[in-house]
Amino acid sequence: MSATIERDGDIWVSSKTGTRWQVVCGLEVHAQLRTRTKLFCGCETSFGNPPNSRTCPVCTGQPGSLPVLNEDALALGVRAALAIGADVAPWSKFDRKNYFYCDIPKNYQISQFDRPYCTGGGIDLPSGKRIRLHRIHLEEDAGKAIHDRGTTTLVDLNRAGTPLIESVTEADVTTPEDAFEYLTALKEILIYAGASNANMEKGELRCDVNVSVHPAGEGWRTKVEVKNLNSFRNVAAALEHEVLRQIVDYESGDESRFPVQETRLWDADKLVTRSMRSKEAADDYRYFTEPDLPPLTVSESFLEQQRNMLPELPAARRSRYVRELGLSQYDAEVLTGDRAVADFFEAAARISGRPKEAANWISNEVLRALGDADFAATTIDELPLKPNDLAELIALIAEGTIHSAAGRKVMRAMLETGDAAKSVVERLGLEQVEDTGRLEEWCRAALDGKDAIIADVKDGKEKALGALIGPVMQASGGKANPQMVREILRRLILES
Ligand code: ZN
Ligand code: MN
Repeated sequence: MSATIERDGDIWVSSKTGTRWQVVCGLEVHAQLRTRTKLFCGCETSFGNPPNSRTCPVCTGQPGSLPVLNEDALALGVRAALAIGADVAPWSKFDRKNYFYCDIPKNYQISQFDRPYCTGGGIDLPSGKRIRLHRIHLEEDAGKAIHDRGTTTLVDLNRAGTPLIESVTEADVTTPEDAFEYLTALKEILIYAGASNANMEKGELRCDVNVSVHPAGEGWRTKVEVKNLNSFRNVAAALEHEVLRQIVDYESGDESRFPVQETRLWDADKLVTRSMRSKEAADDYRYFTEPDLPPLTVSESFLEQQRNMLPELPAARRSRYVRELGLSQYDAEVLTGDRAVADFFEAAARISGRPKEAANWISNEVLRALGDADFAATTIDELPLKPNDLAELIALIAEGTIHSAAGRKVMRAMLETGDAAKSVVERLGLEQVEDTGRLEEWCRAALDGKDAIIADVKDGKEKALGALIGPVMQASGGKANPQMVREILRRLILES
């Protein structure tokens, strides 16, 4: 197995055979819709409750119970579809996907099979590539089976019946970077649209990968599904590993090693995929129309109403920040990665009238505070600092009340205490010193014994002044007005 396989754009080239391998990959993403209650009953969807405390006859599959569609779930599903530019079907239907497992006491999952509520759409990646969506359907989640108790398996049905949308891409993903960029963009869109919190750690976003390889120009070969991917990085790593594994197995020439249709699990510790089970064909599930629910209809007015509730999406915001506010592409990306941060920025930029300064403060100081254990906040909304506070700080610097270096001290105190910029400036005594008498004292002290520099400045070497300004600023505790310091130093030298 000494072959090396190298990437040439979208193609993977084997040094052993010279074969140019083409990757065919599609991603399936389950996203939990951000509803208060489950898809077909009134149980809460909240996370981290005692096992089986959020259940009822419907979501535990008791005989005689009947599902009723949660309209909020439909609304959020439709909003997600519109945000991805997909078509929402005027009518679709629910189907039963039958299988037996302890986490699904009804013995079937209510899903959508041949008539999903949404088809088409797509997402443009930063690389310029477009990943098309094949379909999105609504379905309920299963419960959770806990297998780590020796011979006993425990079942928690709090999650059973939670509303999900399952989105399936076309096989447009051909590299690990495509997968990573697509998932990042999809997550952003779902959060912006308010459709899902998309928190992977809470299982609100789950991704499966379907992948096959074939020599470029030939027909598609057997696809393999990879599951158990709990981060975008793992998705990219698993895709890379699986592509290499399949190429090596085909190139071994040993048919018993050729990829078979199966489900494999990603082992994030050993960085390999391993076989879990051979994949059942779709008709193993004996899908049939759910008899307890009417067809799902979406009226034109409902669609319009959901469309009106969509905010400006991240890609549109980014280009507006660059075009209209003069931000760099990088800053625009940093600020739009999280909708709450983008909203904070827009408010601070509007109040202060200085978007570039607002962008700098947020990306350099505010976002850094979120990763810092000193400030018990992980989201921008949890910080005591609000957009109008930042705007006030920007104004104090712009009008010269404080020096921008002192501004960072003020910012830190504001982040810690939530106090207004003005009161922090007063408390810390950071107003710039413009009292000529005191400034002169510091300047004279700095000039003491600096004959070489003094001579240089007298010779017209203005730059030499720089070496004196630092010590003066330091003596003043950062409060001296640097412009005035420069003028006083020049005057004192020329007078001496
Ligand atoms: Zn329930
Ligand atoms: Mn599913």
